[in-house]
Amino acid sequence: MAKRGRLFVVSGPAGAGKSEIVRALLKAHNDVGLSVSCTTRAPRPGEVNGVSYHFVTEERFQELIDEGAFYEWAFVHQNRYGTLKSAVEKELAEGRDLLLEIDVQGCMQVLEQNPEATSVFVCPPSRDNLEKRLRDRGTETEESIRVRLNNVAREVETAYRYDYVIIHYDWSEVPNALQIAADELYAIITSKRLEKNNRIDFLNELSEGLKKN
Ligand code: 5GP
Repeated sequence: MAKRGRLFVVSGPAGAGKSEIVRALLKAHNDVGLSVSCTTRAPRPGEVNGVSYHFVTEERFQELIDEGAFYEWAFVHQNRYGTLKSAVEKELAEGRDLLLEIDVQGCMQVLEQNPEATSVFVCPPSRDNLEKRLRDRGTETEESIRVRLNNVAREVETAYRYDYVIIHYDWSEVPNALQIAADELYAIITSKRLEKNNRIDFLNELSEGLKKN
């Protein structure tokens, strides 16, 4: 039987650069998948339905909840976001390691169901830097920047519950900050793949083979 894939949850305050880090990782490595979430929020310019998110209505989201279609879901910044069970199951069953880029509430739900999942928290280097990144994005209204910043302190407190913390430095101070963070994320995935527990079958086979004369 093929080995099941592993789940990696990436969280962190909006504007910390999670998506950019995940995108940089996926560009460099095709042996990791990314789950496309459902959301009730409106698409931002350039976002493609089915690629960035599955953009659904409130009614459709509620139907999916009622059908038990979600692996996890949560209210984030006044919208609903959820990971589809079907997408997660398919990838893991095919033995593919899968990234979920979701908020802290979602991460806690994932860990309850799958304590083996690895959790990674992406932090901005400072509050000022985070505020600057949110403004530079140019896609947020003042109101949404205010809502998001209000949530950050609470979110960062939950970082203590994650397995790993990546600091995404500002490119003006560390020019290759994005590459460093993406490499760090891939290093976490690699270290999980190399764990002894994943090598038991191999070790048994090797030992058996070596015993033969
Ligand atoms: P954004 O609207 O900026 O794309 O995402 C807002 C927040 O929702 C981010 O923290 C993102 O990680 C989180 N998010 C995206 N998809 C999901 C999901 O499927 N479940 C949960 N719980 N959070 C999600």
